[in-house]
Amino acid sequence: MILKVIDDGEITDVRINEGEVLMLPPHIRHSPQRPVPGSYGLVVESPRISGMLDIFEWYCFECMACIHRIEVPVNNIVDDLPPLYEAFYADDAARTCGDCGAVYPGKGKPPPGWADI
Ligand SMILES: [Zn+2]
Repeated sequence: MILKVIDDGEITDVRINEGEVLMLPPHIRHSPQRPVPGSYGLVVESPRISGMLDIFEWYCFECMACIHRIEVPVNNIVDDLPPLYEAFYADDAARTCGDCGAVYPGKGKPPPGWADI
């Protein structure tokens, strides 16, 4: 798995190999990428406190500007996240970078090299 981590505005790749464990500090922007079909990655999340909001951000692949951000309560990742992503993918305005005009690609279409293992 490749874990995309954003720190100080820089996106870096953290490679997590089979059998390895990574403990990520809280409040670090991250995005797990599993480009190998059929692969598994186990993510253990801390329990959500009532009223707590999760933040989701999408970044432009061309200039790395944050192009869309939502803050929502998440009770169940499996049930709650797919509608959020589907809404983003269906919203052309949300997918268009305000800085450079690039349009974020659809689901499962990152640029070549984005999550190579
Ligand atoms: Zn851009």
